[in-house]
Amino acid sequence: MRVAVIGGGIIGCLTACHLKQLGVDVTVIERGETGKEASWAGAGILCPIHPWLYPDAFTHLMNESLAMYPDFQIEIEAKTGISIEWKKSGLLIPFFDDDKVDHWQSAMDWSERFDWDVQQLNAIQTLKHEPTIAEGVRKSLLWPEVCQLRNPRLLKAVNVWMKQLGVSMLEHAEVSALLTDQGRVSGLCCIDGRKVVADQVLLAGGSWSGELAQQMGFALPVAPVKGQIVLLKGKPGLMRSIIKHDDAYFVPRADGRVLVGASMEFVGFERGNTDNVIENLMASMVRIAPGLKNCEIEKQWMGFRPGSPDGMPYLGSVASIPGLWVASGHYRNGVALAPITAKIMSQWMTGEKPSIDLSTFAVDRPLLNSPKVGFPEKVV
Ligand SMILES: Cc1cc2nc3c(=O)[nH]c(=O)nc-3n(C[C@H](O)[C@H](O)[C@H](O)COP(=O)(O)OP(=O)(O)OC[C@H]3O[C@@H](n4cnc5c(N)ncnc54)[C@H](O)[C@@H]3O)c2cc1C
Repeated sequence: MRVAVIGGGIIGCLTACHLKQLGVDVTVIERGETGKEASWAGAGILCPIHPWLYPDAFTHLMNESLAMYPDFQIEIEAKTGISIEWKKSGLLIPFFDDDKVDHWQSAMDWSERFDWDVQQLNAIQTLKHEPTIAEGVRKSLLWPEVCQLRNPRLLKAVNVWMKQLGVSMLEHAEVSALLTDQGRVSGLCCIDGRKVVADQVLLAGGSWSGELAQQMGFALPVAPVKGQIVLLKGKPGLMRSIIKHDDAYFVPRADGRVLVGASMEFVGFERGNTDNVIENLMASMVRIAPGLKNCEIEKQWMGFRPGSPDGMPYLGSVASIPGLWVASGHYRNGVALAPITAKIMSQWMTGEKPSIDLSTFAVDRPLLNSPKVGFPEKVV
C-alpha cells in the first residue's frame, strides 16, 4: 500500500514512521522543510493547559499519549543519538487574590477523577518550591509528574528516524490538489506539477489543513491561532517546574533558559513578533514570576497552532472521499498528542480498528464552538 502524507510537522512525520514500521510505502510531502512550523515553535509542555475544560474523551486520549512518552523517548534517543530533553519538571499553578478565574476546585476534581498526582501547597511551600514566584501568591497546585521536551530536538530526532526507516520525503513541494479516480483517492499533485501516486492520503497540514480541505471539497474548521514566545537566558536551577497562570506560562529548560509564552491570537497567517504582545508577556512575567525579571531576552519567535472550534483534534477518515484521512487541529496539544495520534492513525489506515473510541474526534462531528478552549477573540 502507498500512503502520501501532506505536511511534515510532528503529526505527519511521526505517523509516517509508524506507517513505515507497518510495512507501508509512505511519502511525506512538505511545502518547506520538515518540522519548521508549529511543531518547531511550541513550548513542549506535555500536559494540556487547563485539561478540566475539555470533554473526558480528550483526557483519555491525552493519558494514552503521555503514557507512551517514556518508551518513545528511550527508543528515539537510542535510534538517533539525539536527546529530546524529555524531563519530569512538574507543573505548578499559582493562585493570587486578583485571579480572573479560580481553577482550584475544577483542577482538584479533574485530578482525582483521572488519577493525576497533585499536591496542594500553601504560600510558604510555593515560594520554597519556586522562589521566582511573586510574594503575593496565596497557594498553588503542583502536578509533579508533568513532563516537557524541547521541540527542535524532537523534530530533529524524528527527521533522522524517518530517514533511517526509509520514509520518502519530498521537501519544498506544495500540495495543490488531491487526485481521485472514480471518486477514490489516487494521489496528490504539487504546485510545480509533480505528482505522487497513493492509495491513501493523510491530511496533516497543521494550520493549513482547513484551506486544503476546502480545496478538496470537504469542511474542516481548522484555522491558525498564532502564538508568540520569548526565550530568557537564565541560570540552571533558577526555576524547577513549569509555571502556568491564565496570563502566561514559564518553562524552565535544563540549561537554565526559560521560555515565556504564549500569546493566543486569531489574526490569520500574520507572521513575525509584535512589540505589544512581547511587552504583554514580559508584564505577565514581572507580575507572576518577578524572580525572572533580570534574565536577558535571548530570542523571540512565533508559530501557528492548528486551532479548532472545540479545542480538539480531527482524527479519522473523510466519508465523502474514500482513501482520504485527517490528523489535524491538534491546537495547543499536538506534541503531547503526537505518539497516540501516530499509533492510532497508522493502525486505522492499515485496516486495524482503533482500540479507543474516537467518535469525539470525528472529522464530520457537529461544529461546537467552545469559548474556553476554542478560538480566541480576534486580537490577543
Ligand atoms: C507557540 C506555541 C506553543 C505551543 N505549545 C505546545 C505545548 O506546550 N505542548 C503541545 O503539546 N503543543 C504545543 N503547541 C501546539 C503544537 O505545536 C501543535 O499542535 C503541533 O505542532 C501541530 O503539529 P502539525 O504537524 O499538525 O502542524 P505543523 O507543525 O504546523 O506541520 C504542518 C506542516 O504542513 C505543511 N504544509 C501545509 N500546507 C502544505 C501543503 N499545501 N503542501 C505541503 N505541506 C504543507 C507546513 O509547511 C507544516 O510544516 C504549541 C504551538 C505553538 C505555536
